[in-house]
Amino acid sequence: MSDCLFCRIVAGEIPAKIVRRSADAVAFSDINPQAPVHVLVIPTAHIAAVRAAGGPDGERLLARTLTFAAEVARELGLDGGGYRIVTNTGPDAGQSVDHLHFHLLGGRKLRWPPG
Ligand code: 5GP
Ligand code: ZN
Repeated sequence: MSDCLFCRIVAGEIPAKIVRRSADAVAFSDINPQAPVHVLVIPTAHIAAVRAAGGPDGERLLARTLTFAAEVARELGLDGGGYRIVTNTGPDAGQSVDHLHFHLLGGRKLRWPPG
């Protein structure tokens, strides 16, 4: 989608600090980090949010993106202390970009519940 911010990051049209790429996902640093590590992990295919990921293709995409996020966390040295993966969906959760993204947060003690 040409008017989607994260599709434009995937396409390299908008610069981002890319952490890692796979065949079907990209991890890049959040522009407004909320923790020492704050990486956004997204599928390269445009999908609006987790609730839009139906059927076998959606299941595969979710599984692969989450697995990739865990690989990125390990690579960033977060396995020991732990980390949080969260995805905001819709206005009540504060979703501000309508391209599915998982926030990978770590590097400090995280409070619970969020927000
Ligand atoms: P949401 O609020 O939808 O859960 O998360 C969107 C995230 O995207 C926010 O944490 C915000 O800081 C991040 N963000 C918004 N615009 C940009 C951008 O242009 N580049 C990067 N790297 N992150 C962005
Ligand atoms: Zn998109």
